[in-house]
Amino acid sequence: MNVRELADLGPDDRRALFDRDAGIEGVRDDVRDIVSRVREEGDVAVREFCEEFDGVSVGNLEITDAAERAYDELDDEMRETIETAAENVREFHEAQLPQDWRREFSSGRELGRRFRPLERVGVYVPGGAAAYPSSALMGVIPAKVAGVEQVAVATPPAEETNPVTLAAVHAAGADAVFNVGGAQAVAALAYGTEQIDRVQKIVGPGNKWVTAAKAEVQGDAAIDFLAGPSEVLVVADDTADPRLVAADLLAQAEHDPEASVVAVTDDEETAEEIVAEVETQLPERERSGVAGQALDGDASGVFLARSPSEAILFAEEYAAEHLSIQAEDDEEILDRIDSAGSAFLGPFTPVAAGDYASGTNHVLPTNGLAKITGGLSVDTFLRETTVQRLDEDGLSDLSETITTLAEAEGLEAHAESVRKRFED
Ligand code: NAD
Repeated sequence: MNVRELADLGPDDRRALFDRDAGIEGVRDDVRDIVSRVREEGDVAVREFCEEFDGVSVGNLEITDAAERAYDELDDEMRETIETAAENVREFHEAQLPQDWRREFSSGRELGRRFRPLERVGVYVPGGAAAYPSSALMGVIPAKVAGVEQVAVATPPAEETNPVTLAAVHAAGADAVFNVGGAQAVAALAYGTEQIDRVQKIVGPGNKWVTAAKAEVQGDAAIDFLAGPSEVLVVADDTADPRLVAADLLAQAEHDPEASVVAVTDDEETAEEIVAEVETQLPERERSGVAGQALDGDASGVFLARSPSEAILFAEEYAAEHLSIQAEDDEEILDRIDSAGSAFLGPFTPVAAGDYASGTNHVLPTNGLAKITGGLSVDTFLRETTVQRLDEDGLSDLSETITTLAEAEGLEAHAESVRKRFED
């Protein structure tokens, strides 16, 4: 790994850095077939795909009771760990709950907003190559805090589904748990099968089959967003500790060979030291193979900016899923970066804190989607209704405006519906 200067980046380098797609194009045809078979054949197709892709013969697809048992059988330390993380996630999401409100904007014209939860949602909890109890907490808790009545979880089948993941699903408050993964899980949640009830919205991260299936069913069910491999961007100045910057890069890199890990600084010595630290620490990590591939990727690197402003503009354009700022004036830098999924400020705030236990959500937009959306939150699970009440004076004050605009649009009945109210 070498330090690269931002000023030297060509169009291909920039494309590799800024167009980090979710990698779903190559599997879209296969996924379309899986989705349509589940839609037509229901549980029979689901079971067949479990056998084909997970190598597991699944009888009863529902494992809600097994999740409860897994929770009951946890040892005390693990139970406390899960409950501590769950409590912090719950507390932060409760603080997000919006209040209904009404206000009189002018005499006799009262307007407001009202929020109601979705009724049935599906949370995908990945579980193919690794176990993700933390993702169970991050998907289910905001939905339950929002007041969703029926939260169904789907997670891939295995000879023995990871007990900590199952326990976390139960601790988070899921109402039903199903032993199905991949595109077939998304299709089952979107269209319903004999055993799995159809949901209104499907959220949660997953591999390219899961993500492509979310793209496929979108419209029939709402989705959160199409997330790709994980990313971190660290903005560092000369006060940053290169050991910590390197440790945060490696933590993200171990997720996935396709993860993108980037540091940008305007201080040459810091840049060189970060590279040296990455090279020192990488062989010490258990998942050095995966992390090494991510670090070698075209969308990863340590970059030298000519000024703090150039580093900040780069961070804005990158729109990282995780933005870590390790610099003296971190708040000022954050103020100047509008696009980031989650921001981590200061030397004692590793991204891992948000991954697991500080309380913020770790299901976040990747691939520059932070330019247009945030991550999972209570809002993801709410519907908003606007409310209005006009009295006679309120409508009278507006009648001319309404009727004139209605007639300009050729919608005479609209105008008449106002005039009718003032006939004796
Ligand atoms: P997964 O649960 O997403 O996928 C496993 C499923 O993929 C299997 O059940 C199988 O049905 C399907 N599958 C596998 N090979 C297939 C094939 N050839 N054809 C069709 N379907 C196939 O688990 P995973 O694979 O471990 O991936 C999890 C992903 O989620 C990783 O990329 C990880 O980085 C990501 N993740 C992201 C977050 C986040 O918050 N952003 C959190 C946790 C995990």
